[in-house]
Amino acid sequence: MKANEIMKKRNDLLAQTVIKGLESRNMSGYYAESKEDALNLALQLIPEGSKITKGGSMSVEQIGLLDAVKNGNYEFCDRDAAVDKHAAELFAYDADVFLGSVNAITNDGVLINIDGNSNRVSAYAYGPKKLVLIVGMNKVAVDVDAAMKRARNEAATKNAQRFELNTPCKKTGACFNCKSMDTICCQFLITRFERHKDRVHVILVNEDLGF
Ligand code: SF4
Repeated sequence: MKANEIMKKRNDLLAQTVIKGLESRNMSGYYAESKEDALNLALQLIPEGSKITKGGSMSVEQIGLLDAVKNGNYEFCDRDAAVDKHAAELFAYDADVFLGSVNAITNDGVLINIDGNSNRVSAYAYGPKKLVLIVGMNKVAVDVDAAMKRARNEAATKNAQRFELNTPCKKTGACFNCKSMDTICCQFLITRFERHKDRVHVILVNEDLGF
């Protein structure tokens, strides 16, 4: 058996474990074999005419969902292009759909997210009627402790490279648990249960996506 076949077999099995965990937490999980399948699944979850916004997710872009939403029959609020960013962020709380990813997810379906500006984690916690989260299998961690370590040491230190920041991770690639004014690690959201049924939809993808 080739290495990619072994990885696929393991991911197929692990995804079902994560999906069971999500369901036990009143969230919905799906598994896509490819980016194309993930895009099709996501679009099935988003009715035409929906008010949509998104966080700064690379995974959403990587599967082609951002382009599909921009070019589709939706009311899309693009925070990245907005002149009034605060207004665009407030739009999220009344949106039909918020598109994003997670910084890590545990084997049993707990979502871990870290934020600097915190518009993303606050909208994940409350506001938009539906979250559609695109999650590569590279983000699955064994438990909350491992997921938090992944979010701090891997996701945050890589995300820091995307922005003009004066933080230790930007300069060294490693987390120094900083209290810099530029830190992107202000708020930590652990989603262990979702109260509202049919709100959180996690599409696991058999690919390395995002950071
Ligand atoms: S160095 Fe600071 S900004 Fe960078 S990952 Fe660590 S806490 Fe976050």
